[in-house]
Formats: sequence, structure tokens, C-alpha cells
Amino acid sequence: MIEVIDAWLRLAATRLHDQSHALTVLDQAIGDGDHGTNMDRGFTAIVASLDAGPPEGDSELVIAGTRLRVAGRTLISTVGGAAGPLYGTALMRAGGAVAAAAEGTATSEVLLAALDAGIGGIAALGKSSAGEKTMLDALMPALQAGRAAAAAGGSTRAVIGAIADAGEAGSTATIPMLATKGRASYLGERSIGHRDPGSTSSALLLRALADVTAGA
Ligand code: ADP
Ligand code: MG
Repeated sequence: MIEVIDAWLRLAATRLHDQSHALTVLDQAIGDGDHGTNMDRGFTAIVASLDAGPPEGDSELVIAGTRLRVAGRTLISTVGGAAGPLYGTALMRAGGAVAAAAEGTATSEVLLAALDAGIGGIAALGKSSAGEKTMLDALMPALQAGRAAAAAGGSTRAVIGAIADAGEAGSTATIPMLATKGRASYLGERSIGHRDPGSTSSALLLRALADVTAGA
């Protein structure tokens, strides 16, 4: 599990760096044009903390969970604005779920529990829910699709693949939505017709997870 988490955070950091300009352009349309630089700065700091070596812990799941918690704290301390605290809280809650999972739990079940906990953290801090044109519009359908794939007996690869596909579809579905949370909500009707930047970074994070677990 720790290898998956580390590889995921590193791949996410690389892709967020590559997509930083594209994310910023999306945020220029309906926000303040900082989402790409925010995410790049936060994940660059996470990678620096990964390079310090794995945390201590009694079990693999506790070590992996601690890794996510530390990554969450790093995001909160390095990224201002909405997305830093929201993603940071999500990673901290996800880390708690990973650390609390019973030894021997299937990788896909641990990741679904982590995604569920992370979404709960965003919804609680952001006072947000589905349909408001935010990152939750990528993450919530992704969780549903992952659960459906797991219930159908899908492999880890199939479950995480379903999560990533639904995350991308969910992000695309934000385009016609009216924003009712975050900066984009200040635009009212003018927010319609633009892809939400946070849903785009969420879809990127989920695709990176699918790509690092593709062989699992
Ligand atoms: P800021 O809006 O402070 O400039 P960012 O540009 O980094 O922060 O992030 C903007 C993204 O944060 C939005 O595209 C949206 O997906 C997400 N977001 C903003 N407010 C909320 C909220 N209350 N709940 C969930 N997500 C939110
Ligand atoms: Mg912004």
C-alpha cells in the first residue's frame, strides 16, 4: 500500500506540474486564475516530504495512512485559497481511513474507504454537495462507480479504472452547471459553460491513481 500511495503522490505531482497552466486557464475563466499554481506548489512540497523517507508505523496500512495525513497537512500549510484546505482535509481523512483498515483488506476496498472519507472531509469543510460545480462533482460519481464495480466483483484494476473514468465524466458534467459554491458562484449564470477547475484536478488525481494501480 505504501508503494501505491508514494507512486500516486509522485505521479500526481508530475501531472499537476505539467497541467498547471491548463488548470490556471480554467480558473481564469470562473475564478482568480491560481488553481494550477496552487496545486503545483502543494504537490511539489509533498514530493519534497516524500524524499525524506517513509514514516514510522507498526503496519503497512498505518505507515501508508500516515503518509497521506502528512501530505494533507503539507497541502494545508503550503496552499492558500479553497483547494489547499479542501484537498488537505481530504488527504488527512483518507489517511485516517487507510490507517484504520483491517490488515488483509483488499486494496480496492481500502481505496474506496479512503475516497469516501476524503469526500466526507471536503463536504464538511466546504459545506458542499453534488451538483454545485466543484471537485465533488468529479469525486462523488467516482466513488459511486467504484462501489458499483467492486460490488460486481471487479478486480482492483477494474474498480480504480471505473473510479477514474467516472471522475473524468463527472468533471465534464460540470460544464453546464451553475456554480453555487466557491469563487465561481460570484459569477452566477456566467459560470455556466465552463469546466470547474477543481473537478479537473480531482479527475487528474483519480486517473493518476488508476495508472499507478494498473498492475495491481
Ligand atoms: P480559490 O477558489 O480560493 O482560488 P483554487 O482556485 O485553488 O482556490 O480552487 C478552486 C476550486 O476549489 C474550485 O474549482 C472548486 O472545485 C473547489 N471549491 C471551491 N469551493 C468549494 C467548496 N465549498 N466545496 C468544494 N469544492 C470547492
Ligand atoms: Mg482560484
